[in-house]
Amino acid sequence: MNIETKCLHAGYTPGNGEPRVLPIYQSTTYAYDSTEHVQGLFDLTVDGHMYSRISNPTVAAVEDKIAALCGGVGALCTTSGQAANLIAILTILKAGDHIVSSGAVYGGTTNLLAVTLARLGIETTFINSADEEAVIRRAFRPNTRLVIGETIANPAITVFDIEKMAAIAHSFGVPLLVDNTFATPILCRPFEYGADIVTHSTTKYMDGHAATVGGVIVDSGRFDWTGGLFPEMTEPDKSYHGVRYVTDFGEKAFITKARVQMMRDIGAYPQATTAFLLNLGLETLPLRMERHCANAQAAAEYLSRHPKVEQVNYPTLPGDPSHELAQKYLPGGCSGVVSFAIRGGRDAAVRFIDSVKLATLQVHVADIRTCVLHPASSTHRQLTDEQLAAAGIHPGMIRLSVGLEHISDILADLEQALSQA
Ligand SMILES: *Cc1c(COP(=O)(O)O)cnc(C)c1O
Repeated sequence: MNIETKCLHAGYTPGNGEPRVLPIYQSTTYAYDSTEHVQGLFDLTVDGHMYSRISNPTVAAVEDKIAALCGGVGALCTTSGQAANLIAILTILKAGDHIVSSGAVYGGTTNLLAVTLARLGIETTFINSADEEAVIRRAFRPNTRLVIGETIANPAITVFDIEKMAAIAHSFGVPLLVDNTFATPILCRPFEYGADIVTHSTTKYMDGHAATVGGVIVDSGRFDWTGGLFPEMTEPDKSYHGVRYVTDFGEKAFITKARVQMMRDIGAYPQATTAFLLNLGLETLPLRMERHCANAQAAAEYLSRHPKVEQVNYPTLPGDPSHELAQKYLPGGCSGVVSFAIRGGRDAAVRFIDSVKLATLQVHVADIRTCVLHPASSTHRQLTDEQLAAAGIHPGMIRLSVGLEHISDILADLEQALSQA
């Protein structure tokens, strides 16, 4: 099946006379015939649902669909993108371990790595994936256990060199985790370039309608955990009477451990109704991404010609620092997210934002409706202009998330707001 077909048909196949649409099994519990069956569930020797903190039939259908879209062996849905990254990391790392992460990642991920995980004894070194390989290799330590990057970085809109970073990670015997939120599996499937684990905030394009917060972890099934650096994957798990993830679950070792150990303990599993809404979003994802990309391309081209605009970041534009990487990893387009800087800095940007009529000022991105945000007066408000420059954020920079309205209405709104700026 092609990906458009999988979006509609993967994960759920009705039997004779059963509902055509994925049913909502809004139940916390499941009924059993025998103690023996329940014992098997608790020994992880029998497949089935035990309790809706770790699995549920509606959520499972959506997980199977997403695994199919990504080309993975299994997926685990979570209550948010943050929970997806946290659970993915804690499945393989513990206090004393070290992460090498691209510096161009979502602010929430930066906080998770630099503040919260540091408190738990997991340290992170941030690198620039565009640097020379020799420079990047110097960030690795004997206790490095994971490499992290974002296919299209939020909000920098730079493209991560997945193949190069996978080769570096693997040469140190550690996996590469790629946050593929903005690209979605429609525009990029990081497993095809050597990534081992993929996460998404499904809150963004996958749900797409700004209706539900959620996340997902996907396992490629290809990383070899037996090299000695990941004893928890190969040695018996005390909390499951001696289960050995690699021996007992083979290529699904990572995603099984994520579910039965970390999800069991953390408990960030979505409700069936939320998964149902996510599934509706996934059904139309290919169509929506195509239009988001086309509208963003037109908006980026328009902005790059506008005299009041100083700079536009959108990787398909010629001269963009990520142009070559985008041609390799994102041939179908670079999503709907564009950033641009207005001449006149902070004041002009504020006048622009306060003048938009169609676009919404909102703390969200990758949404069906066009929206704008001014990082210097919101997410990066505490920084001075000098500090913003050091963080690579122009004081007049605007993050524009291009929606599915008619492109001439979007451009007309940009035009009238720019005339006010
Ligand atoms: C929004 C976002 C997250 C966090 O996801 P939530 O669903 O908001 O928790 C993680 N990574 C990226 C790239 C994001 O854009």
